[in-house]
Amino acid sequence: MSDRLETESRKLLSRLQATLAEAGAGQERLDHITHLIADSMGTQVCSIYLFRDAGTLELCATEGLNPEAVHKTRMRVGEGLVGRVARSKRALNTADAPNTSGFRYMPETGEEVFSSFLGVPIQRLGEMLGVLVVQSRNKREYSADEVYALEVVAMVVAEMKELGAFTGEGAALAAPHKNPVMIRGTVAQEGVAMGHAYLHEPRVVVTRLVAEDTEAEIATLRAVVDKLRVSVDEMLDTAQSEDSEQLQILEAYRMFANSRGWMRRMEESISSGLSAEAAVEKEQSAARARMEQVPDPYLRERLHDLDDLSNRLLRMLTGQGSETGAEIPPDPILVARNIGPGELLDYGRSLKGIILEEGSVGSHAAVVARALAIPLIVHAGRITTDALNGDLVLVDGEQGIVHLRPDDTVQAHFADKMAMQAKAQERYASLRDKPAETLCGNVVSLQMNAGLMADLPSLPTSGAEGVGLFRTELQFLTRSKVPKRSELATIYSRVLDAAYGKRVVFRTLDIGSDKVLSYMKPQDEPNPALGWRAIRVGLDKPGVMRMQLQALIRAANGRPLTVMFPFVAQLDEFTRARDSLLREMDREDALGRVLPETLEIGAMLETPSLAFSPNAFFELADFISIGGNDLKQFFFAADRENERVRRRYDTLNVSFLSFLELIVSRCRDVGTPLSFCGEDAGRPVEALCFAAMGLRTLSMRPASIGPVKHLLRRSDLREVRAVISEARATGAMTVRPAVMDWLRTQG
Ligand code: PEP
Ligand code: MG
Repeated sequence: MSDRLETESRKLLSRLQATLAEAGAGQERLDHITHLIADSMGTQVCSIYLFRDAGTLELCATEGLNPEAVHKTRMRVGEGLVGRVARSKRALNTADAPNTSGFRYMPETGEEVFSSFLGVPIQRLGEMLGVLVVQSRNKREYSADEVYALEVVAMVVAEMKELGAFTGEGAALAAPHKNPVMIRGTVAQEGVAMGHAYLHEPRVVVTRLVAEDTEAEIATLRAVVDKLRVSVDEMLDTAQSEDSEQLQILEAYRMFANSRGWMRRMEESISSGLSAEAAVEKEQSAARARMEQVPDPYLRERLHDLDDLSNRLLRMLTGQGSETGAEIPPDPILVARNIGPGELLDYGRSLKGIILEEGSVGSHAAVVARALAIPLIVHAGRITTDALNGDLVLVDGEQGIVHLRPDDTVQAHFADKMAMQAKAQERYASLRDKPAETLCGNVVSLQMNAGLMADLPSLPTSGAEGVGLFRTELQFLTRSKVPKRSELATIYSRVLDAAYGKRVVFRTLDIGSDKVLSYMKPQDEPNPALGWRAIRVGLDKPGVMRMQLQALIRAANGRPLTVMFPFVAQLDEFTRARDSLLREMDREDALGRVLPETLEIGAMLETPSLAFSPNAFFELADFISIGGNDLKQFFFAADRENERVRRRYDTLNVSFLSFLELIVSRCRDVGTPLSFCGEDAGRPVEALCFAAMGLRTLSMRPASIGPVKHLLRRSDLREVRAVISEARATGAMTVRPAVMDWLRTQG
C-alpha cells in the first residue's frame, strides 16, 4: 500500500475510534462515520447497509445518496450489487455499476449518477453484519490498496456494532451475541437440558482494534509468529508418525505459519492502522467466509486449520487462553467444533449437554455422550461463532434444536417441557421394579446397553434386568495404545461386580468402519462400513481377540460368562470365533485357572445374509441379538452415518418388519433366544412393534427403559399385531401412521 494511503487509513481509523468513544445516538454516529469515510477516501458516496433480518439488508446511513432513502431502501441477499456482496462475502469493485451484472436500479436513492462502486462485507469472524459501500461519479475501478483500506475500515465498523453501539435503533442494528439464536442440528443423544455455554476452545475477544504504534505492533506480530512457528515445529517433532491425520493438520499449520502471503496481509493491515490482533482477526474472518464457499471437504479442512492457527495466534497475542478462560459454570453445556472421546470423558458427567458444530451421530464422542446419557446435538450450524461463554443455552435433544440466549417466551415453554419430562421420569421410576408385562400377559425382558464402567450404576436405577450389550471397544477407543490383558480383565471383573449377578453380554471388539483406533494402522478402504471390521479383523488377526477372550475368562473367575461376536455374516465365521473361545477356555483350564461357571456364546445378527444361514447356525448359537443399527443400514443399503439417507427408511417399514418376523420365526423353530439391541429398541413405538412381531428381549439405553416399559404395560400386543397386519394388507409402506393412530385412540 502506498505511504499516502497508509497514512490516510491510519488517520481515518483513529477518527473512527474517536467517534466510537463519543456518546450520542446510534444514528448520529452512523451518519458521522459515513461522512468521515467518504471524506477520507475522496468518494462522493459512503453508505452502510445492515442486516434487518437473516435475508434482508437495509440502508441505515448514507453520505451522498438521498437521505430520504435511509431505513426505506431494502434488498434481499443476492439482490443488486449490495446483495451480491452480502451473499459472496467478498468485495465487489466496478467502474460501471449500472452495467454490472446484478445491478438493480433503486430510484429513491438517486444513485444512478454514480458510476463506480466498491462494496465490502462488514463481518466479524465470518459472520455477516452488513455491507459498506463507496461510490463515485467518475468511471474508475478502485485500486487494490483502496479495496484493502475499505476492508480494514469495515472491520472497525463491524466492531462498533459488536459493542452494541447502535442497539435500540431497530432490528438491523441489534448487536450480535446479544440476540436470541435458534440453531437446528441433528440429535445424537436425546434429552433436554438447560444450562450455560462453556466453549471447549473459547474464542478470543479482540477489544483493541486500532494500533497506536504501527512499528511496535508489527514487531510484536513477528515475534509471536516466530514463537508459533517454533511451537508448530515442536509439535511436529513429537507427533506420532503413524497418526497421518494429526501429521496432516500439523503440516498445514506449518505451511500457514510460514506463508509469506498471510504474514504480508497482516502486516499491511497493521500499516493501515489495525492492531496486531485485529489484523489476525481480519485474516481469520476472510478464511471463515471462504470456508463457507468451498465445497471441497479437503480444502475446507485446511481452512479450518488456518482458523485454528489464527486462534492460537490470537491467544498468544492477547494472553487469553483456554487455560486462563472462563470457569466452568455449574450447569455447563459444552460447545465445540468437534471433540474426541477422551476429552469428553475428561469432562465427564458434569456436563448437562453437548453441542458440536461438526461431529456425527456415529462418532466416538457420540458413543461416549450416549454412554454418559448427556444430550448431544451435532451439525449445529455456527454454534462456536455464535455462542459466548456463559450464554444461556437450551438443548432440545428431542427436536435437534439449540436455543442460544432464548427470550422469555421460549424459556418458559422449555421449562414446561422439562417439567413434563421430569414428571414422566417420576412415573417411570415408579415402574422400576415392575415387569414389562403387557395387557395380554406377555413379559418382555428389558436390558440396558453399556460400554463404560460409568454406565453400571444405571443398572439398578433404570430397572434393567441385565446388560444386553456391553460394547467393549470403548476401552480401546479412549486409549492411545492397546490395553493390556490384565487391565481389561480388571475392568471386566469390575463390570461383573457392579452387575451383582445380573447377566452381562460382553460383545467382543467391534472396530473398523467408523470406530477407528488411533494406534491401528489405518485401512484405506473405499467402503469401511462394508470393509474389514469387527469379527473379520478378529479372525484374520486373532492376537487382540484372543487376548480379549482370555481377559473375559479371567474376569469371570468362576462366575457365569456371556460372550457375543459382532458382525457375523455367515456360519463359518461364528464357528471359528466360537472355536477360538473354546480353545482359550481349554488353555486357561490347562493353566489351572478357574473357568466360568457357565458359558454362553452368541452372535449379533447385523447382516441380512445371516438371517438366511443354515439351521446349523441357529442351533449352534446359544443366543442371537439383532444389531438393528447395522442390520437396517445393510437391509436398506443406507449408510447409518450419512445424514442424507439415514432417516429415509422407516424402521417400521413393512419390508423390515417382515424381515424381523422371519428372524423371529427361525429362532423360534430351534428354540434359540433372540433379542434386539440396536438404538431402535429404545424408541417406545418401535419397541412395541418389535414385541408385537414376537421379540421378547430388548436392550437399550438405560434412559429408554422407563418409557418403553410404560408403553408396553399399557398395550395389548394382539391388538398391535392386528393393526400392523391390517396396515400391511392395505399395501402401506410403513405401519407407523396406523400404529400412531391406534395409539391415539388408546389415549
Ligand atoms: C448395532 O449395529 O445395532 C449395534 C448394536 O452395534 P453398534 O451400534 O455398536 O454397531
Ligand atoms: Mg453394529
